[in-house]
Amino acid sequence: MEEARVDVICPKCSKKAVYYAEWTGSYVQYPKKKGVVKCSYCGLHKKHTFSSQDYFYKISIGTRLLFARNIEKLNCIKTFFEKNLKTEEPDLDFPKEFYQRKDLIIKEIQKILNNSK
Ligand SMILES: [Zn+2]
Repeated sequence: MEEARVDVICPKCSKKAVYYAEWTGSYVQYPKKKGVVKCSYCGLHKKHTFSSQDYFYKISIGTRLLFARNIEKLNCIKTFFEKNLKTEEPDLDFPKEFYQRKDLIIKEIQKILNNSK
């Protein structure tokens, strides 16, 4: 299977780095906790224990955290909420809180997209 690749906050310089790991999960796929982080800014290259706080693209929505592996995925999430799409797979669905606050999500994602240009 293809290696997981996640944009993360560099533990050393706080810029955008990449976390590499194998995938885990039987249905919804997550990167494994043990992997390697590589940063092109400060040259960091070391073993890393991954947590959802590491995601570079993340937004706090109430008590929940919305996160995306990369900017393309973030864009997909924005489109999803803008078009009021519904997922067919209940396990892949977003929490109800996200739908209630979709305007905030779209706004916050747009902010990130603008800043990344
Ligand atoms: Zn770095």
